[in-house]
Amino acid sequence: MSASDPIVGIDLGTTNSLVAVCDAGGPRVLPDAAGRVLLPSVVRVEATGVVVGHEARERSAGHAGRTISSVKRLMGRSRDDVAADLPFLSYEVVEGEHRTARIGVSVGGERRVVSPQEVSAWILRELKRIASAALGVEVRKAVVTVPAYFDDAQRQATRDAGRLAGLEVVRIVNEPTAAALAYGLGGGRTEKGQDRPRIVAVYDLGGGTFDVSILRITPNPDPGEPAFFQVLSTAGDTRLGGDDFDRALVERFVLAAGAGTPDAERLALLRREAERVKIDLSEREWVEASIGVPHRVTRAEFESLIEPLVRRTLRCCERALHDAGRAMGDRPVDAVVMAGGSTRVPLVRRRVGELFGLTPYTALDPDQVVALGAAVQASILSGHSREALLLDVVPLSLGIETVGGAVAKIIMRNSTVPTRATETFSTSVDGQTSIRLNVLQGEREMAADCRSLGVFALSVPPMPAGMPRLEVEFLVDASGVLNVSAVEKRNGQRASLQVVPNHGLSRDEVERMERESLEHAREDMQHHRVVDLAAASAMDLKWIGESLARVGAGLDADYRALVEGKMVALRVLVEQATRDWRSVSPDALQGAKADLERTAQRLQEAAVTASLKDASRG
Ligand code: AMP
Repeated sequence: MSASDPIVGIDLGTTNSLVAVCDAGGPRVLPDAAGRVLLPSVVRVEATGVVVGHEARERSAGHAGRTISSVKRLMGRSRDDVAADLPFLSYEVVEGEHRTARIGVSVGGERRVVSPQEVSAWILRELKRIASAALGVEVRKAVVTVPAYFDDAQRQATRDAGRLAGLEVVRIVNEPTAAALAYGLGGGRTEKGQDRPRIVAVYDLGGGTFDVSILRITPNPDPGEPAFFQVLSTAGDTRLGGDDFDRALVERFVLAAGAGTPDAERLALLRREAERVKIDLSEREWVEASIGVPHRVTRAEFESLIEPLVRRTLRCCERALHDAGRAMGDRPVDAVVMAGGSTRVPLVRRRVGELFGLTPYTALDPDQVVALGAAVQASILSGHSREALLLDVVPLSLGIETVGGAVAKIIMRNSTVPTRATETFSTSVDGQTSIRLNVLQGEREMAADCRSLGVFALSVPPMPAGMPRLEVEFLVDASGVLNVSAVEKRNGQRASLQVVPNHGLSRDEVERMERESLEHAREDMQHHRVVDLAAASAMDLKWIGESLARVGAGLDADYRALVEGKMVALRVLVEQATRDWRSVSPDALQGAKADLERTAQRLQEAAVTASLKDASRG
């Protein structure tokens, strides 16, 4: 992309809009001056101009008749088309030329009629301003997304809105196609085993609407050329989303508070609290709701409240699959992409996974995935797609952080995708109840020198150090999406994380990381060895110390003093290594560790004999 004339990707949403760009660093959303990436799709008309975004949404009270939200529902439609939406809109919808829907507002005693295109243009102009400021150059071109079911008139209205905003809409892209592109699905690569068309479901559950689309992605026989995207079917519900989850909770709150029917103000308060509780329940098992009386909501309760709503979305999925001619076998599609903020709800993820028989893609922020994909499309159109990075190999090694900040590599760079590998770990501290897993990418030996792709935690019951058996599996699928899952084998606790390792990584960055790993190879190896030896020595010291405390009294004093002396020698080295790894040679550390182990053999035998005796008595 020529830096002087960038093409941005825009997700012009019903509730929120976003702008993104894809440059050498990969796709990213562009924040406004306050660092916010979501622009509320809300406009307030004033006598002297318009107010767009956060301020228009937050200060809508008292300006109901001239605060315009959800204008997307009116784009390119007649007033008759949108009759069902009218009760939900706080402004007046009138009939314009050719029966089109127009918006009537009164400002300063004067009545004005504006078109949905104009309102959308105000939103687009604000996005253009945000993008221009973020990129430091005037943005004049954009790829804009629309729902797959938009007809010609709705698409044309979207183009016109762009023109009014001073933006050339170089391409209108279907939202599900953009979501798939953001995950690199079919982004123009012809890779081994990828020559057959792939069927992808895009499940998009936002605040107020639900859409599901089934796509067929056919690789282009010309290497390096973009794949063909075809929308096989769509289904959905224009009145179903996270707002309904909130409403279900509000009803529960009203019952629990037992104070009769709440007035409008209290209702608004309860609704805000419901959304907070819902969002917290995506991360936690229970949440204390603040509604005037003590009221705890567990995730299980919330799930039983919303189960019927989730089931409605699943029926739409079944209909879409049927319309696309896909049988509901055990694997009706090859991948499922999640979009929309409400797909953060764990029950939604679980049910969708069960229906399609595979783990849905959730690695990218579901609010951003459509805008990111629009930016990928924009960069393909400007001839600068990130083809080179959408590889059929893993460009950089993947692993996890171990004790002392070293990296255990699990999948080596240049492994062909799909690929899978497993490794078993344990704890280093007694009674640890949570194991933190830091997923890393890079060639260096220490975590601090690699890129962290994400951190997640697995809770385990307290056990002595070294007892838990933690099996960590890395799976990179054919699209390059990494699924990390961890299971503690003794109690079956599970946790997982999904990420797209290539996101935000440019070819230059991969090369730099490779180069650095070569430059630092010797030193890094040494560092890794010292850290590993120090961790293993600390475990030895702990076990031997425990044995000494238990059976040491039964051994002769000279021998005890010998063992204690070797322990001191090793402990000094371990402490030194922890302070500054360079100050200790790995060979010295290994020597002291082996020395202690050899000396302590008699002690360990005595400890085992004592344990056996205890066991036979017990
Ligand atoms: P969207 O229209 O895609 O921006 O989605 C907005 C909806 O997602 C709203 O109903 C939000 O309450 C909901 N949402 C956002 N974050 C979460 C979360 N962490 N857990 C559950 N719902 C969420």
